[in-house]
Amino acid sequence: LTATEQDVIDEIDEKNVDFLRLQFTDILGTVKNVSVPATQAEKAFTEGIYFDGSSIDGFVRIQESDMRLDPDPETFAVLPWRNGDSDGGAAARLICDVIDTSTGEPFSGDPRGVLKDAIARAEEMGYNVNMAPEPEFFLFEEDEEGRATTKTNDAGGYFDLAPKDLASDVRRDIIYGLESMGFDIEASHHEVAEGQHEINFTYDDALSTADNVATFRSVVRAIAAEHDLHATFMPKPIARINGSGMHTHISLFTEDGENAFHDDDDEFNLSDTAKSFLAGVLEHAPAITAIANPTVNSYKRLVPGYEAPVYVAWSDRNRSALIRKPAARVPAASRIELRSPDPSCNPYLAFAAMIHAGLEGIEEEMESDDPVRENIYEFDEAKREEYGITTLPSNLGEAVEAFENDETIKSAMGEHVAEKFVEAKSQEFGEYIVEVSDWEIDRYLEKF
Ligand code: GLU
Ligand code: MG
Ligand code: MG
Repeated sequence: LTATEQDVIDEIDEKNVDFLRLQFTDILGTVKNVSVPATQAEKAFTEGIYFDGSSIDGFVRIQESDMRLDPDPETFAVLPWRNGDSDGGAAARLICDVIDTSTGEPFSGDPRGVLKDAIARAEEMGYNVNMAPEPEFFLFEEDEEGRATTKTNDAGGYFDLAPKDLASDVRRDIIYGLESMGFDIEASHHEVAEGQHEINFTYDDALSTADNVATFRSVVRAIAAEHDLHATFMPKPIARINGSGMHTHISLFTEDGENAFHDDDDEFNLSDTAKSFLAGVLEHAPAITAIANPTVNSYKRLVPGYEAPVYVAWSDRNRSALIRKPAARVPAASRIELRSPDPSCNPYLAFAAMIHAGLEGIEEEMESDDPVRENIYEFDEAKREEYGITTLPSNLGEAVEAFENDETIKSAMGEHVAEKFVEAKSQEFGEYIVEVSDWEIDRYLEKF
């Protein structure tokens, strides 16, 4: 056992952990669990845990179904809602890499492996990738049967008269839970929309950040549920108000810890490296959208007027652009913010897509256009044409098509993931297209 693995074994003992949840994420971003008694920990580290991959969506074909989970000891954390305080034994999770037992190699359908490949490419070029996401979410009330509604719990009705802000209690518990799992929380606030919240955690390397997003979503949901609330990361649960984004801040650091995105002499404090990275992301923006905005509902968010991006451009000031250069207090904080991702995405795949696109920009020394300083929502088509501004795909079908036509982003995902992703998303969009919505009934049923 390595020192870190031994530490985990000791902690299991100290904290009375009975069960280990070995976790990984499938292609569609759902966290999967294989639960083993904590007595299996040593075996899990030395031999891995075998499981049948054919039972997991999008993983493997039946004939090649034997997979192995190799737990990453750095990801050990006791689950705050099963910490052993009240009901005896505690449960802990370990995030795992998925290994194909027929080759002994990382399984090409494991999103965590896809991100590791992107990180390795950056490292070969001499960079460490830092990322920080800003996941937004809504808290909704449950109905009598415990099902989620779209009624917010902190606005209107009798909550106005409640002695304290219920939502901030929930948010506080969520933050305690996250902190107990090792999160470093920077800020939390009520977002623009009613019932909408954002909790920010410190930037980290790309892999830890993707792990953190996966963890974040399950912690937020579990702790909200303890308060009889439903937390949702659905991008646009309510029409005509702000949706939920997951802005992603990115910077590259050199091996000796310098921020490769910073340049003191540049008007925007962005280096040529940063500008090329940014140009690469803009170049591949339509295909990245398929991965970063992977649901039918994602495209209800990407419309003008709600602080979500629609136009492929960057800006040093306004929030209507796809990429923003946030103000930075110190050189280490110079970074770019990609505003399109939403929290329904698979963070491993979305980060991998961004990283590959940006690195290609650097390799090809792409040059970025000037930032757009006006509110692009207010541009008409002629003005957009004059500025050379294109638009993001307007629905999942268009996004998948853009993905299929983009060799860079497709190969960033690897053949296996790309194929399964297109299959699943084409089916999802196909099902949506034949549905008849309430909007259509309201609009047409009596009129025709
Ligand atoms: N909720 C907005 C979105 O859909 C973002 C608001 C903000 O700037 O934080 O991206
Ligand atoms: Mg926000
Ligand atoms: Mg932001």
